[in-house]
Amino acid sequence: MTFCRGERYSMHEALALRTSEPVDSMPQRIALLQRHLQQASRVPYYQEMFRRESVTPSDFRDLSDISRLPFTTRTDLDQYPQLFCQKENTDHRDIALTSGTTGEPVIVPYTAADLERLAFNETMAYYGAGIRPNDRVLLTVTLDRCFIAGMAYYSGLVNLGAVAIRSGPGQPARQWQIIKKLSPGAIVGVPSFLLQLGQWGLENNIEVSHSGIKTLITIGEPIRYPDNSLSPLGQQLRDLWQADIYASYGATEFETAFCECSAACGGHVHPELMIVEIIDDNGRLLPHGQPGEVVVTPLGVQGFPLVRFRTGDVARLSDSPCSCGWKTERLGPIEGRLAQRLKYKGTTLYPETIFRTLEAMHIQHFCLEIRSSMDLSDEITVIIGSDTHLQHETISENLQSVLRVRPEILIRPLAEVQKMMEQDGSRKRKTVFDLRQETRSPYA
Ligand SMILES: [Zn+2]
Repeated sequence: MTFCRGERYSMHEALALRTSEPVDSMPQRIALLQRHLQQASRVPYYQEMFRRESVTPSDFRDLSDISRLPFTTRTDLDQYPQLFCQKENTDHRDIALTSGTTGEPVIVPYTAADLERLAFNETMAYYGAGIRPNDRVLLTVTLDRCFIAGMAYYSGLVNLGAVAIRSGPGQPARQWQIIKKLSPGAIVGVPSFLLQLGQWGLENNIEVSHSGIKTLITIGEPIRYPDNSLSPLGQQLRDLWQADIYASYGATEFETAFCECSAACGGHVHPELMIVEIIDDNGRLLPHGQPGEVVVTPLGVQGFPLVRFRTGDVARLSDSPCSCGWKTERLGPIEGRLAQRLKYKGTTLYPETIFRTLEAMHIQHFCLEIRSSMDLSDEITVIIGSDTHLQHETISENLQSVLRVRPEILIRPLAEVQKMMEQDGSRKRKTVFDLRQETRSPYA
């Protein structure tokens, strides 16, 4: 088996690293951390931070030494963009923008080496999910609009020696024509679109489960519960396509992505590309198995080297043995966004818990409106889009059985709710309208 290789990364070495033990204390990872901090120290923001903390990159002799440095937050990126990104840098080869779901888009420049690193990251992710050279993969993700995820998926496939079919998002009829003509064995896409694509196929007398699609790799929306079992949406996809389904997770800012391996019990940490920490609300490190905010230090990034980036996403790390044979840690499903954590009548919960419960009732179109109330609790309205009659009381009882509380439920015409959730140019539907800082409701 031959793999296309970049200059900096070798598939042979990468596989050896993942199957040796213990990965954490390997000298090459510590060297990679030192080199990464050296690169970060060229960025004015970190130059100042290292001076303030009286440290130099060579002071870091163990991976855990990284906890000596403060975190970097999205607010830091928003407040000091000129300190992170040197616009005059002639090494930049691609400029990505974050999708801007929280605040202004962040400018993330990539050097040629960063693009190679990005491709290698996805190569390993595909490999872990069972994709091999010459496999054909349909990419229903966006490659333009300054998004990086589509580029990553594309370059990872090419680097692996597999075949990319750059179909892009939307238009189920056209996607099915391509599937029939080019016979891909896997699809990369957003879960809600993969569901729509499969359902369109069924409605048009296509045998979706015999279409040759053996693998679905998902992006953007969760398909699993924290214990790695499939959510109702994940089950629906698996049953509809009769395919293996793997979730991936990443963000433009930290230039790193996780994808589940064939064991589907968390996304493996790529040891040469990242250090992952899980912290509590006070910034203290949490042990394996406990949920907290995911903090990522990407290693080897040149154009936009971040240190201890707080993602705002909640998940847990595991170091239990994985049946795939790789010995690196695994990051579990994203359990929610910290900024969207809700306090409701004495209970703490995330919108995702409400969404999974609605999916289990085969409700597909929904969003939440959150407002502040006078008693420091949040007011939650579950807005459901449906043109058929739904039993309001049954939905309320189901939510109560899972959440232990009953949020308000509003059932509106399907088209109205779909319109509300659509976002121009975004990969994802907007499902949470957090109005805790505002007073106006979409229904005011
Ligand atoms: Zn594994």
